[in-house]
Amino acid sequence: MSAEDASAQLVIDTAFVEAHSPWMYQLAQRLLQDTALAEDAVQDAFVAAYRHSKRFEGRAAVRTWLHRITINAALAIQRKRTVRTVDIDDLQPLFDANECRIEAPWGQMPTVDEVMQRAELAALVRQSVAALPEAFRICLQLRDFEELSVKEVADALEISEENVKVRTHRARAALKRLLEPLLRGRPVTDIADTTPTDDTRPTMMRKIKGLMLANMPYMITCEQFESFIADYLEGDLPAGLRRKFDFHIRFCRECREYLAAYERTRALGRASADVDMSEVPEDLLAAVTAALQDAKET
Ligand SMILES: [Zn+2]
Repeated sequence: MSAEDASAQLVIDTAFVEAHSPWMYQLAQRLLQDTALAEDAVQDAFVAAYRHSKRFEGRAAVRTWLHRITINAALAIQRKRTVRTVDIDDLQPLFDANECRIEAPWGQMPTVDEVMQRAELAALVRQSVAALPEAFRICLQLRDFEELSVKEVADALEISEENVKVRTHRARAALKRLLEPLLRGRPVTDIADTTPTDDTRPTMMRKIKGLMLANMPYMITCEQFESFIADYLEGDLPAGLRRKFDFHIRFCRECREYLAAYERTRALGRASADVDMSEVPEDLLAAVTAALQDAKET
């Protein structure tokens, strides 16, 4: 029997559940940040997999197929929860009246490994992701951590691709602000303490810079740069704008360092999501088996 034939005759038995439930549980837990709801999501996912197993034609790998089903099950549970009211606007980057970015100079930034090797810092990264408002956090997790395409995220959340890009970008920017004390080697007292410590006073240098960026050819302002970041990283920025973006990176210390910290934040978030957060509950297998039995009888 060929591999295609085997996957086409998908059998959801105990061995199948045992093989896939650990990573499905961890995926659901990452998305829902709640162990009980994650168990529910895994049960729902297996029941959905059973119901749709005839539609599984072996074109995709079983794991890829289950990955989508688990995400959908988690999102269905997510939609029924009450939404947090943290304002993402408070965590966005700062600009002065001339559209110049305000970003304190960066020295050394810890590497992803340096952060992840220290359990308390890795935990802080996970807490910071969890502190993001749900609508933004889910986009960040699906696009950056689960590595779904923009279109796949848009389909899963039933929002536009443009909306996915904007939300993902704002989530990354907010996460960068939350992790800034950690990245700058400052003591982290309270995760919600996002008081900017950067110098926000208008300076003569910044005024001159603002005039140059706004008026000279090939220049874009820091605020325009900010609005292009998501498309730039997706490779969707038209060539002309891409050149201006690249030129701005070389010209502007603030945006260059901001983008480096933004990218480090993305890598940290992704690395923190790869860490096992907890053991798979012992009763999960029994619960899934019972749920599948119910599904087979109805
Ligand atoms: Zn800039």
